[in-house]
Amino acid sequence: MEKKNAWKKYPEGKREEVFAFGEEYKAFLSGCKTERECVAGLVAQAKDAGFEDLNEVIASGREIKTGDKLYANNMGKTLALFVIGKQPLEKGMNILGAHIDSPRLDLKQVPLYEDTGMAMLDTHYYGGVKKYQWVTLPLALHGVVVKKDGTKVEVNLGEKEDDPVFGVSDLLIHLAGEQMEKKASKVIEGEKLDLLVGSIPCADGEDEEKVKDAVKANVLNLLKEQYNIEEEDFLSAEIEVVPAGKARDYGFDRSMIMGYGHDDRVCAYPSFAATLEAGVCDKTSVCLLVDKEEIGSVGATGMCSKFFSYTVAEILNGMGGYSQIAFNRAMDNSKVLSSDVNAAYDPLYASVMEKNNCAYFGGGLVFSKYTGSRGKGGSNDANPEYMAELRRILDGNEVAYQTAELGKVDQGGGGTIAYILANYNMSVIDCGVAVLNMHAPWEIISKVDLYEAKRGYTAFLREA
Ligand code: MN
Ligand code: MN
Repeated sequence: MEKKNAWKKYPEGKREEVFAFGEEYKAFLSGCKTERECVAGLVAQAKDAGFEDLNEVIASGREIKTGDKLYANNMGKTLALFVIGKQPLEKGMNILGAHIDSPRLDLKQVPLYEDTGMAMLDTHYYGGVKKYQWVTLPLALHGVVVKKDGTKVEVNLGEKEDDPVFGVSDLLIHLAGEQMEKKASKVIEGEKLDLLVGSIPCADGEDEEKVKDAVKANVLNLLKEQYNIEEEDFLSAEIEVVPAGKARDYGFDRSMIMGYGHDDRVCAYPSFAATLEAGVCDKTSVCLLVDKEEIGSVGATGMCSKFFSYTVAEILNGMGGYSQIAFNRAMDNSKVLSSDVNAAYDPLYASVMEKNNCAYFGGGLVFSKYTGSRGKGGSNDANPEYMAELRRILDGNEVAYQTAELGKVDQGGGGTIAYILANYNMSVIDCGVAVLNMHAPWEIISKVDLYEAKRGYTAFLREA
């Protein structure tokens, strides 16, 4: 099998679109660091592109018809976009699925404490992380605090040039003799991932010695002043701690992007862009962006939720064609590209990969017939009939693609949302973009792979 480098399709002078899409993606990645921010950002873009809120269309009683562009926003954390196609919905949808949650640290419900003159925020990590990678980095706070009266306070601190940042400390090398003997999973323990957030005791004209936890009190004063929130309001908050700073070009040739949250926004964003670009297709196009993949796709906003099927039922109903059998057919006849990142081959860690069946930077969109671990456990294993159809579409549109497994047999493995949609008897295959440093605070992708992903998704929506 010959491996082609996709950059060769874009010699100098013909790279403009590849780099332009990279810029667009960088802006998205820098601005949207939580699932909520992704949904809000993409809803705004979708509205500009003429998408309407499905709930408003339902409320208006207007019939849904070919050419309608609709979105359904589930609790601000899951987003489904539909472009109603020319064929009846019963003929099936072409679905691009991806997730918009990323590994991070979440604040606990009672996070703020003081220890010896230092105010700290306690966290619980989210998703699979190498905990030692999250220390001594500038971190930002993103999220919402919901007060008892329902008021929602948006928090986004640490991203602007003059914002303060936060961080988790690590032991100085001079005193780390014991620590350095520990295995990597124990070097930094989960309960040690607390943020230092203040060190000035409150004044308030009081005798500072008498105020218990005066530094914590000072932080609470600032929170009251700047956000009008009290300590108890953390009980109903969702604050995510993420790497501070923007996505940036990587390498002399600027061929790559370093950023936080490529997993899985590097698939979510081109899925979204392709849905806009493909226009009204034969089949109904769907872009489904879900939350909670990193912790097992559970919960109301995860892929296991009934949200998507309820939404499809609403659309059928809005088209005047709802019945259980019509719904079953719409799902059964659907085709899915379940997109998630794959591991990019790393010459420094070649031993975990099997060279013929792994993903390379510049290899284009990655297809994985199956994922899972220990003998494909937990995997959706795609049908070769479906893969053959995709090969025809991709080759017909000169989209660069490659096939890969996540590492060598029995080296490890991973799961995606593919098997959940496959439960509706849809044709589903895993695909996505190769990532270096996956799940690290700063991950790397190749711009040409990102661009080929968008081209591949667009071709799929038009021709599958
Ligand atoms: Mn992922
Ligand atoms: Mn992941």
